[in-house]
Amino acid sequence: MSDAYDLVVIGAGSGGVRAARMAATYGARVAIIEEYRVGGTCVIRGCVPKKLFVYASRFSDMFEIASSFGWTVDAKFDWPTLLANKDKEIDRLESAYVAGLEKPGVEIIRDRGVITGPNGVKLLHSGRELSARYILVATGGHPQIPEIPGKELGITSNEAFHLKALPHSILIEGGGYIAVEFATIFAGLGVDTTIIYRGDCVLRGFDEDMRRGLEAGLTERGIKLIYQTTIARLEKRGTDILATMSDGVSAPYGAVMFATGRRPNTHGLGLAEAGVKLHAHGAIEVDEYSRTSVASIYAVGDVTNRAQLTPVAIREGSAFAATVFNNTPTTVDYSLIGTAVFAEPELATIGLNEADAATHDNIDVYLARFRPMMNTLSTKSERVIMKLITEADGGRVLGLHILGPGAAEMVQMGAIAMGMRANKADFDRAMAMHPTAAEELVTFKAPSYVYRGGKKQ
Ligand code: NDP
Repeated sequence: MSDAYDLVVIGAGSGGVRAARMAATYGARVAIIEEYRVGGTCVIRGCVPKKLFVYASRFSDMFEIASSFGWTVDAKFDWPTLLANKDKEIDRLESAYVAGLEKPGVEIIRDRGVITGPNGVKLLHSGRELSARYILVATGGHPQIPEIPGKELGITSNEAFHLKALPHSILIEGGGYIAVEFATIFAGLGVDTTIIYRGDCVLRGFDEDMRRGLEAGLTERGIKLIYQTTIARLEKRGTDILATMSDGVSAPYGAVMFATGRRPNTHGLGLAEAGVKLHAHGAIEVDEYSRTSVASIYAVGDVTNRAQLTPVAIREGSAFAATVFNNTPTTVDYSLIGTAVFAEPELATIGLNEADAATHDNIDVYLARFRPMMNTLSTKSERVIMKLITEADGGRVLGLHILGPGAAEMVQMGAIAMGMRANKADFDRAMAMHPTAAEELVTFKAPSYVYRGGKKQ
């Protein structure tokens, strides 16, 4: 077989797979190189197995209120069963990804690719040299671990998906997506869970009411929060790990997990040698068409660090293929990206948070806090929080934030309206569906409060 391709993609994750499939569908001869498993972080050790774990962990909340609906539940949890069933599903999805690549004729190469020049890629294991009209780098990212003594004793989300047994306790460092999602997973499965975070409230950058609401939800589930502190040192103590914090306090834990951000996978790819420019943290610099500083080399997804989210990588992969192989220059609109944190309670958001919106415009804030109907027969007092932020006097909807059951599903639908530049009257025109939580969003009467000239009134 000839080693000349129209496109060689390095990395078979969300962005690379989409780009390869579409380019092949447009008639290009495509090879995709993957050294681990087809599907990338999202499918193999990210979003998908995480969500399966989230479902598993949510049963404990359900069991808590089950008796108020007349049920008696004698529940036991078996971690190996969850792992085995999760692995089976991930295998099935990986096969589906492979089939999706092979159908339009993409050649899958199991190896590690290194760029040798603007049009060359060498396979490290087989030694084969490929030539490509275009190269797409879609190698994703990896967990970043703080440089502290004993850091090798900690795990990251990568290992959390394969633990042989659940630890009796876990200390999770970080206050972002992965920290709060895994904290609720572990706590829901019965692990004594502590978050240690250098800031003063989890999820920096999210709307303040949502952060505080989530914090309360985490605490209600027994998760301990240590703020303005970091892990300074880890040491082995019998079967436990002794963590010494920056304030000098030490405590043993069954496991320690770092959820302290992710860095682009750009090391050892031959990028610098090929003349591809990188940003300070190693992310590949690209233009609006995902083209790097070398005209024949493109990059999409986490390796470019534009927004570390699967759907964004997929969009970038599609836009690249349409631009280069379908003669349709296509860019990605990053202005309105919805995002969900699958913690417990669930948080989803799109558009501006209150603090940012108030600095841009005169705004109206509609805020609802209520007990979800599911909890009303029980003593569980947790509230759903919904917030709609609009331009003053019923103008355009600028932000939508929801904390509570089904938040991500609701915000995904709200994203359509916001993308169409809906205003408050457009939301109000929708007939409420009763009884639902989402009906609150279309029945807000007067603002809860307003900001004029940046000041809350
Ligand atoms: P995040 O960027 O969300 O959070 C990283 C956290 O680690 C922050 O709280 C940060 O603190 C803290 N941190 C960073 N460096 C250090 C350090 N040296 N010492 C102590 N604390 C540190 O990253 P995650 O790892 O949680 O997730 C990576 C990315 O993956 C996310 O940004 C997200 O885009 C994506 N993701 C998306 C999910 C989803 O869509 N549901 C789920 C999981 C991941 P500070 O706030 O002070 O910066």
